[in-house]
Amino acid sequence: MTLNTHPSWIDEFPARIAELDRAHLRRRRRVVVPESGARLQVDGQSMLAFCSNDYLGLASHPALVQAACAGAHEFGVGAGASPLVSGHSAANEALEQALARFAELPRALYFYAGYATNIGIVPALVAEGDALFSDALNHACLIDGARLSRAHIHRYAHADLGALDAALSQSPARRKLVISDAVFSMDGDIADIPALLALCERHDALLLLDDAHGFGVLGPEGRGSLAKFGLTGARASRRVLYMATLGKAAGVAGAFVAGDDALVEWLLQKTRSYIFATAAPALLASALRASLRLIETEQWRRDHLSRLIARLRDGLQPILRGTPWRLGDSVTAIQALVIGPNDEALAVMEGLRERGLWVPAIRPPTVPEGTARLRIALSAAHSEDDVDRLIQGLAGLAPKSQLERPSAALEPTLA
Ligand SMILES: *Cc1c(COP(=O)(O)O)cnc(C)c1O
Repeated sequence: MTLNTHPSWIDEFPARIAELDRAHLRRRRRVVVPESGARLQVDGQSMLAFCSNDYLGLASHPALVQAACAGAHEFGVGAGASPLVSGHSAANEALEQALARFAELPRALYFYAGYATNIGIVPALVAEGDALFSDALNHACLIDGARLSRAHIHRYAHADLGALDAALSQSPARRKLVISDAVFSMDGDIADIPALLALCERHDALLLLDDAHGFGVLGPEGRGSLAKFGLTGARASRRVLYMATLGKAAGVAGAFVAGDDALVEWLLQKTRSYIFATAAPALLASALRASLRLIETEQWRRDHLSRLIARLRDGLQPILRGTPWRLGDSVTAIQALVIGPNDEALAVMEGLRERGLWVPAIRPPTVPEGTARLRIALSAAHSEDDVDRLIQGLAGLAPKSQLERPSAALEPTLA
């Protein structure tokens, strides 16, 4: 073998990483150990965290831990094979029935992860020659699923249903699939699901909703965004595929897709990320059934969360007035404080960190250019004191009011 001594692209990675550093785009992981409530030990230091999607504070609940242990004792820790071979445990089967019942939809299919669900089910539904319609702010895994499908992709401006209507009208494709987050993950706003469904009816399209951030939190008993709009049970539409993740409000891991029996059966037959992957461990299904019981019965978690959301929004209003900072229009646990430039968002995150508060700065390409933000995630695990500490921290870091400057300077730099 002769060594190739020409300059190689393989040697360029250090310089490319340095480039990310210079653009303030280099991502870093922190090593965390959970403490009590919403506190985490982060790289050895105790911090009050506002970054977890554990919206109901269930991730370390003793009932879930106990159910997981019982599941491990009965089923072991690994599923050993694909669900289509020998991996579909009785625990996973029981979970699917519980999920369908909870979501008030005919049938559910349980996956090991939400990312794997969306990148798999979209290509199972549409292919070359078909058409996909995707909200511009959809989660990365819907976008990746769309790309994998090789269907023609129409990307419509965020929540612009007029543009979606026009694109659906113009499409010559026979099979049309509209994909949307139900609660947008970086802004916290809720999609107009009844209007999306009406468009899908009119244009004979199928609607796939990703309710990663609504499941457990929105709707009666936390049944999710579809239930919030009364579109489950007797009013469920065969045109809707409902997908939700189970690592957020449900506090465990995995995801499911639910809807019409034949649709779900088709996904079971055709989803490559389901067929060619080892099934989720049964111990997770055991924990998830315990979680569903708590989600259904402990309304106080959602009530407490709602109070925290209102408290944060009220507390931030006077601080933001006259500054270029902007609080997203959201009634959910996701509260986006849009700061604008990447380096400023990072500086505020760092300032909060020095005060023992951990709020992640989210930068492009996760969010549009010029809208770097703090993504504040509230949880039933927070106390009112926790929220007050965050408000005080931000008050100390907010730019001085610019009310004396011309109003054009106040416009947020949103694309
Ligand atoms: C987190 C998230 C996913 C991915 O789910 P995982 O179970 O974490 O893989 C999918 N869609 C949305 C909108 C999400 O926020």
